[in-house]
Amino acid sequence: MGPHWIKRSSQRFGRLETRAMPVSPPFLANLPMQMSEANGVSSKAPTTCVLNLPSNFAVALLAGFFLTGTLACAEQPHVVDELLGKVISVADGDTVTVLVNKEQLRVRLEGIDAPESNQSFGARAKQALSGLVFGKTVTVKKIGTDRFGRTLGVIMVGDIDANAKMIEDGWAWHYKQYNKEYRLAQLEDAARKAKRGLWADPSPLAPWEFRARQRTPRPVPESSDETPLTFWLNVSSGVRHNSTCEHFGQTKRGRSCGPDEGRPCGKCGG
Ligand SMILES: [Zn+2]
Repeated sequence: MGPHWIKRSSQRFGRLETRAMPVSPPFLANLPMQMSEANGVSSKAPTTCVLNLPSNFAVALLAGFFLTGTLACAEQPHVVDELLGKVISVADGDTVTVLVNKEQLRVRLEGIDAPESNQSFGARAKQALSGLVFGKTVTVKKIGTDRFGRTLGVIMVGDIDANAKMIEDGWAWHYKQYNKEYRLAQLEDAARKAKRGLWADPSPLAPWEFRARQRTPRPVPESSDETPLTFWLNVSSGVRHNSTCEHFGQTKRGRSCGPDEGRPCGKCGG
């Protein structure tokens, strides 16, 4: 564990010492439940787990080290390296290239998932990330390497956490499958409520869902012989999508249709 972890520990431990709480049900028996709360993205901050600890100093000391270590991992990914470099290109809303010691480092922003380039809001998300980091000297807090060989990390521009900012501004989703940080879940909730960025769309398609659809062939919509398969009508909204649209063949209620039916989709042009 690096200095980062140690710093967190001492902060947490300071809190433990100052808050002497009454002993609640047997401490060890409580642990599994508290852990799962911390791991899942619940409505409560994981730090509340600490408050249930017994006041006995020796037990608190042990529990403090044990719990803090586990919670630190559950909340925030462990930083293995910090790299200083300049962002020389932005591929999309969650991937950039950073020049570090004259070498190009492909960095996938950890904990977030932004719309793909060929997806709705993909271009806007890329613009948003460019505005935050392009041409700037940044610190990459490296978490690890993904299966494509990209560095997984958090990009800091001064004090600004670009990963978190993308979620906060509504240009990326919290990537809950791989990241359990409560603060990121909260930022997404707030962005959704405020309808910021891609949340202006009442039912935006998650990027992982979009990718899954790209991988599997689309269901062939039922059709009659005289209707070409090139358009799809959402019979609930009356919106018509063309075959390149992410909603083609995907709406809850719909059918194939001709080029004159319904009104054209605002994204694909119908
Ligand atoms: Zn469409």
